[in-house]
Amino acid sequence: MNDKLAGLSQAQLDTHWMPYTGNRQFKRDPRIITAAKGCYYTSADGRQIFDGLSGLWNCGAGHNRREIAEAIKQQLITLDYAPAFQFAHPKSFELAERITHFMPAGLNRIFFTNSGSESTETSLKIARAYWRKRGLPGKTKLIGRINGYHGVNFGGISVGGIGANRSLFGPALDADHLSHTLLPENRFCQGQPQQGAHLANELLELIALHDPNNIAAVIVEPMAGSAGVLPPPEGYLQRLREICDQHQILLIFDEVITAFGRMGTASGAELFGVVPDILNTAKQLTNGNIPMGAVAVRQGIYDTFMEQGGPDYQLELAHGYTYSAHPVACAAALATISILEQENLFQRASELAYVLEETIHQLRGLALISDIRNCGLAAGLTIESAPGEPLLRPFRIAMKMWNKGFYIRYGGDTVQLGMPFISTSEEIDGLVNALAESILEVANGQ
Ligand code: PMP
Repeated sequence: MNDKLAGLSQAQLDTHWMPYTGNRQFKRDPRIITAAKGCYYTSADGRQIFDGLSGLWNCGAGHNRREIAEAIKQQLITLDYAPAFQFAHPKSFELAERITHFMPAGLNRIFFTNSGSESTETSLKIARAYWRKRGLPGKTKLIGRINGYHGVNFGGISVGGIGANRSLFGPALDADHLSHTLLPENRFCQGQPQQGAHLANELLELIALHDPNNIAAVIVEPMAGSAGVLPPPEGYLQRLREICDQHQILLIFDEVITAFGRMGTASGAELFGVVPDILNTAKQLTNGNIPMGAVAVRQGIYDTFMEQGGPDYQLELAHGYTYSAHPVACAAALATISILEQENLFQRASELAYVLEETIHQLRGLALISDIRNCGLAAGLTIESAPGEPLLRPFRIAMKMWNKGFYIRYGGDTVQLGMPFISTSEEIDGLVNALAESILEVANGQ
C-alpha cells in the first residue's frame, strides 16, 4: 500500500473531482493531510508539515483550537440549525454586533454568507439593488481590476481579472477593469510601493467611457492576494475613494483575505485608512473551521432598503442562503473572535510581519526571482517563467517545499506565503530558508 494514500483506494481517489487542482498530477502523486495542530499538518505519510499559508489564508489562529471545537460542539447539541429566513437564532445578532467592532465606523449592518465568493455576489447585488432603490436603475455596470480575485461565481469572475478563471466560462456580467498596480519600478519594494497612485485615475477614464449613470460599484482587494500579494501603492485607495465619491459610485473592498488580522489590523481599510461603502469578509472569520462570510454595509445603504421596502412584512432584499448565519458557523466565529482578542493576535501578526519582511527580502538576487512583495503577514514572489511553460516553476517549487516539510501556495507565476499569526520567527526563518533551497534546486534543473 502507498502510505501517501491514507488507506484510500485508487477508485476512491479517482472519484473526487478536486477544485483548483491538476487532478491527473495529484492522483499520480497525492498530497493528503490527515491531521493538524497549531502551525503544522500531519501528512498521510506521517510527516509534520509547516502551514506556510494558514490553510488558504484562513487559519491564522492555528489549527485544532479547542475553544472553537468546544463552541461548535455545544452549539450542535443545543441548536443544530434554525431557518435562516423569517426566523432566527440569538447568536446571529450577537455575532453581527461583535463584527461591527472590527469594521470601520459606519459599516454597521452585517449580511451573512458562507464563503468569500458568496460575499462577492452579495455585495454586487446589494450595490445594484441600492441604486434601483435610489431611483437610478441605470447604474448596473461593475468595475473590477486586472489580476483581481473575487471568487468563482459569475459575479466574481466578471469583476475578477485573472484570465484563467473566466475565459472558459463567458459571457460574463457587464463589467470593466482597472489596471493592476504591479509597476516595474516598484519591484522588490518593501511594503506599500510609493509609486502608482496615479493608476487610480484610470477610473476617471472608465467613467468617461461608460458614464457614471451606468456604474454601480468599484470592487478591489485592498491587498490583492491571489495575484501574488500586491500591496496598494500609497494614496491609490484614497484616490479611488475620492473619485467614487465625486461620481456617486459605491466602493467595495474585498477583504476576504485581509480582514481579521492578516494585515496586523482588523481590516485593510483600517491599515490603509480608507473606508469603503461595503466590506466583504470570510476565511479568518471562523479560523477556517466552518464555512462563513460576512458583508459589512454602510448604515445609509441599509436604511435606504428599509425606507424603500414597502409594507413592513415584505422583504427589503430578496437575497440570502439556506445557511446564512448558520448557528454552528456563528458559534465558530464568536469563539474565533474571542481567541483573536484574548491572544492579541492582530498585534502578534503585525510583529511577525516585520520579521517576514526582513527575511523574505533577503532572497533578492537569488536565481529565478524577479520580484518580492510583502504586506502584513503575507508575501509573494514572482518566479521567472521557464521557456514555453509559464506556470511550471512555481508548481515545482511548491512540490519541493512539500517534500521538505512546508506547505505554501503557488498561483500564476507566483508563490505565496501567509503563515499563522501564532508562528515564531524561527519558523519563518526555516520556511524562507527552505524556499531559497527549493528555488535554487529548480533553477539548477533538479
Ligand atoms: N475574494 C478574495 C479576495 C479571495 O481571496 C477569495 C478566496 N481566495 C475569495 C474572494 C473567494 O472565497 P471562497 O473561496 O471562500 O469562495
